[in-house]
Amino acid sequence: MASNLTIAILPGDGIGMEITKPCVELIQEALGQVGETPMNENWLEAGAATYTKLGTALPDETIAGCRSADAILLAAMGDPSVRYPDGTEIIPQIELRFILELYAGVRPVRSVPGIKGPLADPRGDQLDFVLIRESTEGLFASVGKGSRDDDQATDTQVITRKGTKQVCDFAFKLARQRKAAGHAGEVTSVDKANVFKSMAFWRDMFDEVAADYPDITKHYGYVDAVAMEMVRRPWIYDVMVTENMYGDILSDLAAGLIGGLGMAPSADIGDDHAVFQPCHGSAPDIAGTGKANPTAMFLSGAMMLDWLAVDKNHEAYGEAARRLRLAVDNAFRDGSLVSTERGGQAGVVEITAAVMGELQALA
Ligand code: NAD
Repeated sequence: MASNLTIAILPGDGIGMEITKPCVELIQEALGQVGETPMNENWLEAGAATYTKLGTALPDETIAGCRSADAILLAAMGDPSVRYPDGTEIIPQIELRFILELYAGVRPVRSVPGIKGPLADPRGDQLDFVLIRESTEGLFASVGKGSRDDDQATDTQVITRKGTKQVCDFAFKLARQRKAAGHAGEVTSVDKANVFKSMAFWRDMFDEVAADYPDITKHYGYVDAVAMEMVRRPWIYDVMVTENMYGDILSDLAAGLIGGLGMAPSADIGDDHAVFQPCHGSAPDIAGTGKANPTAMFLSGAMMLDWLAVDKNHEAYGEAARRLRLAVDNAFRDGSLVSTERGGQAGVVEITAAVMGELQALA
C-alpha cells in the first residue's frame, strides 16, 4: 500500500470547483477499490479570484504546496474580466509550467466509446493518438516579456536545444511504450521548418533525438498541413510533437475530434513534477449552471493515477486508473448519456452519477 501520497488540488475559477470535487471523489473511490488508502488532499488557491482577493494569482504557499505534493490536479483558471494592466489575462496555470519545468504537455486524443465525433468516416470515432506540446518555451517564452508601443507589438519565439531535445525524447519514449502496447510506433514532428530558422533548428533537434530510437519511425509535417490532415484523416497519427503555440491550437482542434473540450484530458509533465488538468478553460459562460461536462477532468485524474503508478512504482494506482477510465467508457458506451456541450441534457451531476455508478459496479 503506497500510503501518505498527497495531491495538491487547484480548483481555480469558473467551472473549476464544480468539476474538481466529483473528480477527487472518483479518484478516492477507485483507490479504495484496489485496496489503497485515500490520498491526502491539499486544496490550494490560485486563479483570477485569488488575484482579485490577494493581488497575486499564484500565491507562494500554493507553489510550495505544489512542489511538495506527489502530483498536482488542476481544473482551470482565468476570467476574461480579470486582467493585468497590459491587457493580458492572469495565467497561473501557465506560470506553473515554467516554475515546475513541466516541459511535456501530453494531450491524448482517444475516442470514448459512444461519443460520435464530427467526421463522417467511422475511423474518426476510433481515434487513439497523442499530441505532445512543448510547454516551457516556443512562442510562450515571450509571456510577460513582449514589447508594445503605439505602432508595433512583438512576441519572440524561443527554441532551445535542451527544451526541444527533452520534449522530443519524451515523445519517442512514449511512442516506444505505445508500440509495445500494439500502436504503430511513429512520431511526427509538427513544425514550420520551411519558413522559420527557429523551426529548422527544432527539426534538427528532432532528428538528433530520432537517431537514438531506430525502432520508431519518424515523420515530418508542416503545422498548416497537419491541421488539415487532422480533419481529413486523423487516424494516421500515433504520437506527434510540436512547439508550444502550435500545440495549444492543435490540441483544441483535437478535442473537437473526440466530442469537445469537455472530453479532452491532459497532463503537463516534467522530470520532478506533473500537473493533470483538462484541456479546457474555466468556461465562465456556463459556470454555476451545472452544464459543465466533467469528463475531461475525470480522465485527467486517471492520467494522474497512471503517472503515479510509474513514478511511485506502484501497480495498484495503474489499476485504479484503468477502472476510472473504464467507468467513463461504460457510462457513455450506449450513447444515452449526452452532455450539454453535445446538445444533450447531462451536466456535472448526471455525468458524475453515471461514472460513479459504473465505477462502483466494478468493485
Ligand atoms: P474555455 O475552454 O473555458 O471555453 C470554451 C468553450 O467551451 C465555452 O463555450 C465553454 O462553455 C465550453 N467548455 C469548456 N469546457 C467545458 C466543459 N467542461 N463542459 C462543457 N463546455 C465546456 O475557453 P475560453 O472561453 O477561451 O476561456 C475562458 C477562460 O478560461 C479565460 O479566462 C481563459 O484565459 C481561461 N483558460 C484557462 C485554461 C486553463 O486553465 N488551462 C485554458 C484555456 C482558457
